[in-house]
Amino acid sequence: MNATTIAPAADTIASPASLTNSTFAEIAQVLRRHDSFVVLSHVRPDGDALGSQIAIGLALQQLGKRVKVWNEEGLLEKFSFLPGGELVSLPPNDSEDFDVVLALDTATRQRLGDNVLAAIGSAKVWINIDHHPSNPRYGDLVHIDSIAPATGQILFELLRSQDLPLDEAIAENLFAAISTDTGSFQYPNTTARTFEIAADILRCGIDVGRLSQQLYESYPRRRIELLRVLLDRMRFDADGKVASFSLPLATANELGVIPEDNEGLIDHLRAIEGVIIAAFFEELEDGKVRVSMRSKDERADVCEICFRFKGGGHKLAAGARVLGTLDEVAERVLEAAVEAVKAIND
Ligand code: 5GP
Ligand code: MN
Repeated sequence: MNATTIAPAADTIASPASLTNSTFAEIAQVLRRHDSFVVLSHVRPDGDALGSQIAIGLALQQLGKRVKVWNEEGLLEKFSFLPGGELVSLPPNDSEDFDVVLALDTATRQRLGDNVLAAIGSAKVWINIDHHPSNPRYGDLVHIDSIAPATGQILFELLRSQDLPLDEAIAENLFAAISTDTGSFQYPNTTARTFEIAADILRCGIDVGRLSQQLYESYPRRRIELLRVLLDRMRFDADGKVASFSLPLATANELGVIPEDNEGLIDHLRAIEGVIIAAFFEELEDGKVRVSMRSKDERADVCEICFRFKGGGHKLAAGARVLGTLDEVAERVLEAAVEAVKAIND
C-alpha cells in the first residue's frame, strides 16, 4: 500500500491540520497490511520504553509479521525478566530496509539513538506513538496523547480497540510500562482510565505481586551504594524548594555502576517535604551532562526549563543532555530551577 494514501505527506506534518491524531483504525490498518517492521524507542530506555517496544513486538509477531525490536542500549539487565525480552537487540552495523518503522515513547527522532537511526535503510511508513507534549510529531502516522500517563496505556487502547493480539505476555509488558511511568499509579497523570486498564490487564492473567517485586524489589546492591554516595552530595537551594545531587563519572566508575542503576534515585529528592523541583546531574563520557528533573507543582514546569537546554519531556518530569562540566551545567540549571520556584506565589 502506498503510505501517502493513508497519511499526510511528510512536508505537511507540521501544518495545523496535521495536529489531528491518526486514528487507531488507521494505525491498525497499516500494521495489518505490511510485512516487515522495526519497533524503536528512546535511548536510556525506561519501563515504558522497553515494555511498549516488547508488547508491540509480540503483537506483530502474533500477526505473523517479520519484526525487529531495536534499542540503542539493547535490553537492560533490570528488564530482562520481561516475557519476550529476547526480542530486543542492539541495532546491527549494516542498515536494513523495512515497510514500517514504529517509534514509541520518544519525544524527538534524535532520541531514538544514532546507531539505531543509522541502521534504518528505507521505510515506507513511519508511525510515531507517544505521550510527550513536546513531541514535534515526526512521522507519517502520528498519535500523541499527552493525557496518557504512559505510552503503554495508548498501546493498550490501540490493541484492545482494534482487536489486535493482547495475551498475558503482552499484558505483562504493558503493565510494566504503565506502572513504571505512573510511579506505581501515584503520579498526578494517573487517571481513572489508567486504573480501568490496569484492571483489564490483571484479567489477562498477570501476577501483579510477582511483577512488582521484579520491578521494584530486585535492585542490585550497587544501586543502593550509589544512593549512599549521592545522598552525601545532596544540595538544597531556594529555601529547600530545590533539591539536587550530582554524579561525577569517576565516582560512577569507582562504584562500578552502570547507567540503568541511577534511574529513579531522583525520587528520593522529590519525596522530601517542601521540595518542589528535584534535579539530578550525571556526568557522561562525551563531555555532556545528563540532566534529569522532576517537579511537584505544574507551575514549576521542568519541561520548559529543559527545553531551554535543548531537552524536553513533561511538565513534571523532563530531561536534557547539556554540553559542559558537571558543576557548570548544575549551576546553570539550578539557577533556572530557583527562578521557577520563586515565580510561584502561593
Ligand atoms: P528522565 O529524567 O527519566 O531521564 O526523563 C524524564 C522525561 O524527560 C522522560 O519523559 C524523557 O522522555 C524526557 N527526557 C529526558 N531526557 C531528555 C532529553 O535529552 N531530551 C528530551 N527531548 N526529552 C528528554
Ligand atoms: Mn513514557
